[in-house]
Amino acid sequence: MHRIEVKKGQRILNDLDVGNCAYIVETGRVTIEDRVSSRGNYTVSPGEMFGEYGVIEEARHYSNATAVEDSLLVVVTQAEIEEKSAASDPMISLFLNFFMGRCHSLTVREYGTDDEIKKFEDRYKHRDSKIQENRTEIVEQFKIKEELQRALEDEEFVLHYQPIISLRGGYTAGFEALIRWDHPERGLLSPFHFIDIAEKTNMIVPIGEWVFKEACKRITDFNQRAAKSESPEIFLSVNVSANQFGVPNMVERFKEIAGETKVDVSKIQLEITESVLMEDADSAKTMLHDLKQFGFQIILDDFGTGYSSLSYLHQFPIDKLKIDRSFTHAMLDDQASLEIVRAISGLSHNMDIEIVAEGIETMEQLSLYRDLDCHYGQGFLIAKPLPVIDVYKILGTRMKI
Ligand code: C2E
Ligand code: CA
Ligand code: CA
Repeated sequence: MHRIEVKKGQRILNDLDVGNCAYIVETGRVTIEDRVSSRGNYTVSPGEMFGEYGVIEEARHYSNATAVEDSLLVVVTQAEIEEKSAASDPMISLFLNFFMGRCHSLTVREYGTDDEIKKFEDRYKHRDSKIQENRTEIVEQFKIKEELQRALEDEEFVLHYQPIISLRGGYTAGFEALIRWDHPERGLLSPFHFIDIAEKTNMIVPIGEWVFKEACKRITDFNQRAAKSESPEIFLSVNVSANQFGVPNMVERFKEIAGETKVDVSKIQLEITESVLMEDADSAKTMLHDLKQFGFQIILDDFGTGYSSLSYLHQFPIDKLKIDRSFTHAMLDDQASLEIVRAISGLSHNMDIEIVAEGIETMEQLSLYRDLDCHYGQGFLIAKPLPVIDVYKILGTRMKI
């Protein structure tokens, strides 16, 4: 999304131009001489849109647009609309897709030349199969969304818990909560089968809320059991998707749930990925500070896989960094990966940020992380994610490593 400044009297659109964007007025006013709408000539003010035909593929504008005063306009391109439409709820995507196609067809038939009508029809015949494919996919998403909704109502989701140990003391310091879908026909499904689609359909928001609430209830119980065996208190790490940060009242909801479950919030860690910090940095910063101030700890997950700007560590309230498991796997054979791990570890020691090493599968990897003085370790060598019943068995035990 970008903005343009236009001067009073400047022409922005010409009748019959082929468009590739629409405009939203941010400040100023623009007059439209419109051949298509029944409104005729009219003026658009801040918050209103014009040139919307420009976002329909290869459609023409049927209006002139001229700035009445110096104005600032937000430019919305076809590509942006398509991208947002694909990422939105499938119902919205389908509606948008349908209405844009309908709108285009009506205007070309009404205002286009014979030649344009013929070209339009040929092109649409050609594109028909692609559109059909797209619609089939959207309908498929509908079904999965409904299924996820039903699964949530029928309480088919469960959490498994993977131990995170202190590399210094060898004791269980906490767990990461990892969701599973106990599907009535397909059995226990890993998140790889449904998290992407839950994100795409925004079902990750209610599912994520369920995960958070379940985690709050469990950690209280885990710590009561730990206390009985005079073991140190443990934390529980919960994955929070970037989409959840797109919900304006997410922080409020988390606070409410924490209140309802009476959880000690200092024992809950929220695992976020860089995408949270990149998408809407200002809003993410406010939300993270708010969560942090309330008492939650913030972990930056999958560190090293994305853009991995070290400046994030200054800008956002990060308590721990999780080094992605791809580094753990590569660092013994690949000098560059080892150097990156060494640098991340050195830097975080200086910044008082703790390191969690993920994906530890061999003793060599574990020893190396210990030599680098990383704080915590997690991986199949230590334990796989466990059903809750197995967690009770190991609470308060010390790992022999
Ligand atoms: P993640 O947050 O990076 O979680 C760690 C994943 O690595 C888990 O897979 C875990 O089983 C796996 N893992 C642990 N130790 C090892 C190891 O030594 N070697 C290897 N190869 N893998 C190891 P899982 O449980 O299948 O979760 C996959 C992803 O699904 C998670 O990656 C996370 O992105 C997402 N996910 C899981 N639960 C939730 C949730 O409640 N909410 C959200 N938003 N995402 C979740
Ligand atoms: Ca994680
Ligand atoms: Ca991870």
